Amino acid sequence: MSKLETDSIHAGLVPEENLQALSLPPISTGVSYKLPAFGSKLFDALLMENDQAAHVYSRWSNPTVRVLEERVAALENAPATVAVASGMAAISALVFTFLSAGDHLIANEVCYAGAVELFAVHLPRFGIEVSLVDTSDLDQVQDAVRPNTKLIYIESPVNPLMKIVDIGACAAIAHAAGAKLAVDSTFATPVLQRPFDIGADFVIHSMTKYLNGHGDALGGIILGSGQDMLRIRREMLVHLGGALSPFNAYLILRGLASLQLRMEKHCASAGQIASFLEAHPKVEKVFYPGLESHPHHSLAKSQMSSMGGMLAFRLKGGLGAAITLAEKVKVFSYATSLGHPESLLFYYPTDIYFESAAYYNQEQKSRLRDWAGDGIMRASIGLEDVETLQKDLDQALRRRYWKSAAGNLLYPLVKRSLSTK
Ligand SMILES: *Cc1c(COP(=O)(O)O)cnc(C)c1O
Repeated sequence: MSKLETDSIHAGLVPEENLQALSLPPISTGVSYKLPAFGSKLFDALLMENDQAAHVYSRWSNPTVRVLEERVAALENAPATVAVASGMAAISALVFTFLSAGDHLIANEVCYAGAVELFAVHLPRFGIEVSLVDTSDLDQVQDAVRPNTKLIYIESPVNPLMKIVDIGACAAIAHAAGAKLAVDSTFATPVLQRPFDIGADFVIHSMTKYLNGHGDALGGIILGSGQDMLRIRREMLVHLGGALSPFNAYLILRGLASLQLRMEKHCASAGQIASFLEAHPKVEKVFYPGLESHPHHSLAKSQMSSMGGMLAFRLKGGLGAAITLAEKVKVFSYATSLGHPESLLFYYPTDIYFESAAYYNQEQKSRLRDWAGDGIMRASIGLEDVETLQKDLDQALRRRYWKSAAGNLLYPLVKRSLSTK
């Protein structure tokens, strides 16, 4: 019997002290921890001198959350990490820790909507300068650099457009400018992409998505150097307060056990569905990094070990076809989020998106329209049987439905319902 294989599953476990927990830690719900009355251990804990200092209060650190932090740090090959309540809590902790009035941020003009809105609408309120550029075009990144650039923030693959951004090249631009590079690697997970190995200073995940993988817990994580993570914990976890619930940490730990297996299935099914859609008469264009037709296909192949479970596509029938697809799928659900066991679809109509994004200039809008046409359907390919998923899309795409024809007619109504919200 191989010792190594057994050890890799059992080593380090102390059953006597941990009877209730074979592979997962207990859910430590206690908010406050008994402290030494006085002395250096007390000061270590209160000042959070290091990652291993005793727990004081659950907003600062928690035993269940710490197990999750150590596990994700190992997966991502990161020196240190802070887990927080959501992906957005991770992104806000990052920018509020490292950016001050007078600093400059360069970020993807399109990425997770909550992140772009935080950057474009809120950071300027605090005197932080923001440039939104297409970071998949390195000239734009380079041209945006200013003497006060502190942080370059990218997502790759980009949500929802599925552009691929060159992480190593952006790291080089950031470092030459004396700035740091943060990568939101949510779509790729540590299974497909290792940003630290190619120069990233920070990696962010919405653990709500693939890391948990079950669609039943919000969570986020920031990874980086020991010093930077300690700063985030002391300055932002303590003061902004976006602490992760230990129950959610437990759920995410439970989900993580199957991450590799799930990603293999998500990737295989998404690859098959991407090819199927590319050949479909109702589909105008498919954006999946694994397709040779994807403009960033070769970069994706060099940066990612497999092409992921997310794809985007344009429909020949525009908004009407999107409404039909959304209403006529039976196995897919029309819903936001991604990385769940269930397959999900979500549509971004370009004009409506522009209306909610007053910060885009004409150049940014025309770039977005070039890629997304009049709208883009994002698909998160789940863990269901792939033939069933394919048939489901096919029947919904071919469906005759009065709303397909009424797409353009419906558009003003959709617009009005959005603007009165
Ligand atoms: C969902 C998502 C986020 C935000 O995560 P939450 O956990 O919902 O706060 C950030 N980045 C990307 C790429 C996402 O998909």
